[in-house]
Amino acid sequence: MEFGRTAAQRDRCRTIRDAGEYDWQRLGELGVLGAAVSVEHGGRGLGALDTALVFEAAGYGCHDTGLVFAAGAHLFAVALPIAEFGSDAQKKKLPGLCDGTLIGANAMTEPDAGSDIGALKTTAVRSGNGYVLNGVKSFVSNGPIADVYVTYAVTDPKAGHLGTTGFVVDAGTPGLVRSEPFGKLGLNGCSAGTVEFHDCAVAEDAALGNGSLVFQHGMLWERACLFAIYLGVQERLIERCITHVKRRKQFGRRLSTFQSVSNRIVDMQLRLESARLLLYKACWAIDQDDDAVLPAALSKLAVSQAAVQTALDAVELFGGRGYQTGEGIEEHLRDAVGGLIFSGTSDIQRQLAALELGL
Ligand SMILES: Cc1cc2nc3c(=O)[nH]c(=O)nc-3n(C[C@H](O)[C@H](O)[C@H](O)COP(=O)(O)OP(=O)(O)OC[C@H]3O[C@@H](n4cnc5c(N)ncnc54)[C@H](O)[C@@H]3O)c2cc1C
Repeated sequence: MEFGRTAAQRDRCRTIRDAGEYDWQRLGELGVLGAAVSVEHGGRGLGALDTALVFEAAGYGCHDTGLVFAAGAHLFAVALPIAEFGSDAQKKKLPGLCDGTLIGANAMTEPDAGSDIGALKTTAVRSGNGYVLNGVKSFVSNGPIADVYVTYAVTDPKAGHLGTTGFVVDAGTPGLVRSEPFGKLGLNGCSAGTVEFHDCAVAEDAALGNGSLVFQHGMLWERACLFAIYLGVQERLIERCITHVKRRKQFGRRLSTFQSVSNRIVDMQLRLESARLLLYKACWAIDQDDDAVLPAALSKLAVSQAAVQTALDAVELFGGRGYQTGEGIEEHLRDAVGGLIFSGTSDIQRQLAALELGL
């Protein structure tokens, strides 16, 4: 067992943590957008653990957590599925997705199919040499600005969740209608909206493969690697809390000298380090081609819950200033809550874990 980092891992993470300025193009240059895509297709060719370290470093360095989340959604639910399942023609999009020329969005969730992805109503019906898509996708991160969509539709209604197909659809395809961004609680550096398909005709080679397989593959990586963003965010926030409680005085003493204050920070660190170990183990299992469903579900639960609790603790430690907008504290709480919902809610992770435990 090895807990240390290689020189290459340290150098890569330091470059990302210390980049200073971040925007979409810069995330492309830093190798974040294409971390897990092969070098041949313009990515960095990293495994799951190395990819997680990249996202952890970006979560630490980049104070716009929504922007890094947008990069994660783009990589794990669009670029990676195309890299793994795409045709040669579809893979031609990968260099652009990796360097930031293109933005990807994943459109799965529907008004009546959220946790229950077997209830999709969007259909793709064979027509001539292709398919015609009809349906509504209700929550699409990067949706309002994406160039490329990976979406899912029912192609064989009798086959249940196995009767869906993944599709790669370009923005601008007639019949693809996307909304303006809708308002949301947090992760505001990532715009989200709805995407509708109205008799949207796509060619035969827009099909990416069996929807269930493609989606589950992306979700596994997302649950394991994307959540590393929240490890980096928590590390930065804990550092900020330590600085604060060592400086601020009440009752003539530094806050850090009150045991209930220092214990709160110890608990934040305990949650971070426990969640980090689970996340690294889940990524390691993916890299070993082991069954990673249970470790990824446990890791997703641990990291997302730790992120919310730590953000709440930070608000309490900063008191009234922690609650005020513009102080850079309360936004962590708003950014963390989404983690309880996307990539499968906490209830769904528990359900997956229970099944894996034979319950
Ligand atoms: C920040 C953010 C980004 C997102 N980005 C995307 C995206 O890019 N693409 C995309 O397609 N979707 C995206 N989503 C949508 C997300 O995948 C869904 O919101 C999520 O799967 C839950 O579906 P739902 O909202 O329909 O809730 P529901 O499925 O209606 O769930 C509501 C509640 O019921 C519980 N519940 C449901 N079924 C069960 C069950 N069987 N057992 C126990 N409890 C259950 C849930 O845990 C939850 O608490 C995003 C969501 C968020 C918050």
